[in-house]
Parts: sequence; structure tokens; C-alpha cells
Amino acid sequence: MTDIIIVGAGTAGLSAAIYGVRAGKSVLIFEASQIGGQIVNTPDIENYPGIAHISGFEFANGLYEQAMNLGAELKYEKVIGIEDKGEKKIVHTEDGDYEARAVILATGAKNRSLGLPKEKEFTGRGVSYCATCDGAFFRGKEVAVAGGGNTAVEDAAFLSNYCSKVYIIHRRDQFRADEKDVEELRKKENVEFVLNANVVEILGEQKVEGVRVKDKNSGETRDIPVAGFFVAVGQAPENKDFENLVKLDEKGYIEADESCRTGVNGIFTAGDCRTKSVRQLTTAAADGAVAALAAAEV
Ligand code: NAP
Repeated sequence: MTDIIIVGAGTAGLSAAIYGVRAGKSVLIFEASQIGGQIVNTPDIENYPGIAHISGFEFANGLYEQAMNLGAELKYEKVIGIEDKGEKKIVHTEDGDYEARAVILATGAKNRSLGLPKEKEFTGRGVSYCATCDGAFFRGKEVAVAGGGNTAVEDAAFLSNYCSKVYIIHRRDQFRADEKDVEELRKKENVEFVLNANVVEILGEQKVEGVRVKDKNSGETRDIPVAGFFVAVGQAPENKDFENLVKLDEKGYIEADESCRTGVNGIFTAGDCRTKSVRQLTTAAADGAVAALAAAEV
């Protein structure tokens, strides 16, 4: 039986693995897609204490190498359910069943969509949720970004380096993003702020050819011709597979406090998948440490 099984190899999960193995425990991580989680898509991290600049990809790879070199094991298998048998937890993946003394759920969060007609159909045909992955396809072209958080502002800044023009469309005139980054973006000559506006339609027949935005105050609509539409309107958790195991809040986040303990003995949670007010790289890493040290005591 493994001491600690971790679900998710993002920042929280990999940090938990580092702390778990250093506490002398056997650690197995399951990852359904790619290591690193959301941070992989951030071109430049400049708010992780002690590291002035690092790309998300490099950061994630560093975490992965560190966890593996210390003795953690990782399997690319999707966890589809967990059974609580008291002192033993059975983790079911699409490929098999595994036993653990403790489990840390570090499933992160996934990109939210706007729910517009054609949004799904045009994903990969102009609609994207990842500027760093797809930005280069729009070199020299005009694009739009929807959202007002750190992701949207970062995406717009990144795209402004490739694209002839970037529209950042936000439903309010106040940004959630860090003020410093918004100010930097305002200085870019090829970025236009479209504020107090909602994207109401994606235009185009076979691919994105533009977006229709509606001004919230005047009710007027405006068609903006763009080849790419980047949706950066936040994340949502994906914890449905665990709803019978742990308590989820109304938005689907796993209920836990700063101790990272769920209400179930031996089941812990870390990072963006849990109820919390600040979802940052530092808090994800911190959660990983807290959850692993608690799990090591089981
Ligand atoms: P976020 O902070 O939740 O922001 C989502 C943005 O999308 C908000 O501006 C929101 O508008 C807007 N929005 C949500 N639903 C919408 C809808 N249906 N229609 C139009 N607009 C909508 O999400 P995020 O930017 O992805 O960031 C997630 C977390 O990761 C945050 O804690 C963020 O600080 C963190 N993050 C940090 C960094 C970094 O530190 N370098 C980088 C990326 C992300 P309202 O403001 O009106 O609600």
C-alpha cells in the first residue's frame, strides 16, 4: 500500500509530493493530462517569492524533476473515483485500482467558457483558451481577449508581441488583475481596451472572423473584426468524481480550511480545487506542503 496518493500534478500536487517524500513516505501521483497544471501556460512568472522571472513551463518542469529526484512516482492515469475504507483508501483509475493510507486531492481548476453559440464549434478555429499555446498562429493578425483577471491581462500583453492589434474586452471598468500589469498593458500602442462590454456573438462562418460586443451602458453593439478570440474568464473546478467522497461547495470546490483537511479522515485537498479566497502559485505550493505534512501523520 502506498502511503500517500496525490491526484493531480499541478503546483499543489507536485509540492505535496516533495513534502511527502521528504517526510519519508512513499508517494504516487496520478495525472490525467500534463504535468504542471495551469501555470504551464503563463509565459513569465514574476510574483513567486525568490524567483524574479521564470516561465510557467520551466517552473513546472523544475517542480516535476525535484519531486521525481526525491523519489516520488508519477503515473499518467485518470482517477475516476475514490473509496474510503477507513484506514485504507482505494483509488480507482481508468487503468486499475490502488491502495493508499492517505489521499491528497489536488485537481486544480479548468478554463471556464463563455457559453456563446459557436464557442465550442470554433475552438481550434479561432477560439482559444490558451494564449501561450496558440498565440503564434495569429502573428500579424488582430485578436480579442475576453476577461479582466490576471490571465486576460497577461494574455493580452503576450499577444500584443505577436499580433497587429489586441482588443481586451471586459464586462466592467475595474480589473481583478494586478494594477501594475494593467498599467503596463495600457502603455501598449496596439492594445485597445473595450470596457463595460460583453461579447454577445462570435462572428464567422467556418472560423472566427470577428466578435460582436454590446456596451452595457448604452446597449449599442459593435462588430470587431478579429481572427482570434481568446477566452480568459476564469476557472472552474472539476471535482464531480469525488462528490460522494468529500463535501463540495455550491461552485464545486472541495470544502477545506487552511489545514487542507476535508471532513473525511485521511483525505486532504490542496490548491485551486479547494474553497479559498486567494488562488495563486504561492498558495498552491503552500497548500501542497500543508496537506502533505498532515497526510504524513496518518
Ligand atoms: P479571475 O481572476 O477569476 O478573473 C476572471 C475574469 O473574467 C474576471 O474579470 C471576470 O469579470 C471575467 N468573467 C467571468 N465570467 C465572465 C463572463 N461570463 N462574461 C464576461 N466576463 C466574465 O480568473 P483568472 O484571470 O483566470 O485568474 C484565476 C486565478 O489565477 C486568480 O486568482 C489569479 O490571480 C490567478 N492568476 C495569477 C497569475 C499571476 O499571478 N501571474 C496569472 C494568472 C492567474 P469580473 O471581474 O466582472 O467578475
